[in-house]
Amino acid sequence: MKIVLATHNQHKVGEFNAILGALVPNLEIVGYDGPEPIEDGLSYAENSLIKARAAFAHTGLPAIADDSGIAVEVLGGSPGIFSARWSGTRDSIANRRLLLEQIKDVRPEHRAAAFVCTIALVGFEQSDAAEPSEGDQPSEITFTGIWPGTVAFEERGEGGFGYDPIFVPEGLDVSAAELEPEVKNSMSHRALALEQLASYLAG
Ligand code: IMP
Repeated sequence: MKIVLATHNQHKVGEFNAILGALVPNLEIVGYDGPEPIEDGLSYAENSLIKARAAFAHTGLPAIADDSGIAVEVLGGSPGIFSARWSGTRDSIANRRLLLEQIKDVRPEHRAAAFVCTIALVGFEQSDAAEPSEGDQPSEITFTGIWPGTVAFEERGEGGFGYDPIFVPEGLDVSAAELEPEVKNSMSHRALALEQLASYLAG
């Protein structure tokens, strides 16, 4: 079974192949080099669906896309879908600095946050489902993984990316940037969403 992943990021293609390939037999994830749509949705689900629909429309293959971010409770779930450009730029250091500044007076017990990842799957027909006929809308489904934790007061660790150095996962006393990649990938929001997708694909 071939599925296109709506990202130009080859690293993500490798990561999805590694996790999904181990869980779903005969699955091949291929990259996407078609046009990128404008992500103007107002939720993780809408944005992931916009990307997956575009890849399905362009390739005719079942398509998956993800959208993710960090949701901080005292900020009402922000930065959320705006995580990648929270400071107005794609600079992760500036994004982290701004977030730390915004909640610098918030006490430790009120610094709850979560990494969220939604994966959309468009155009996939499960083998026991009826054959699609002309005029049918492609199937659409989303899966969401949530990784709870807190926002630290300062950066810790050199690994990971984005907000990892200031996110302390629940039950741990290290930041996500201090975790070995395999450890992070076994418990992260992305892993949790991918596991749901894998069991859906495996039928
Ligand atoms: P996306 O690529 O549009 O989904 O944007 C996701 C943004 O959310 C990234 O640029 C990061 O800032 C943040 N983010 C998502 N997942 C993670 C993670 O695992 N670690 C750190 N930051 C993350």
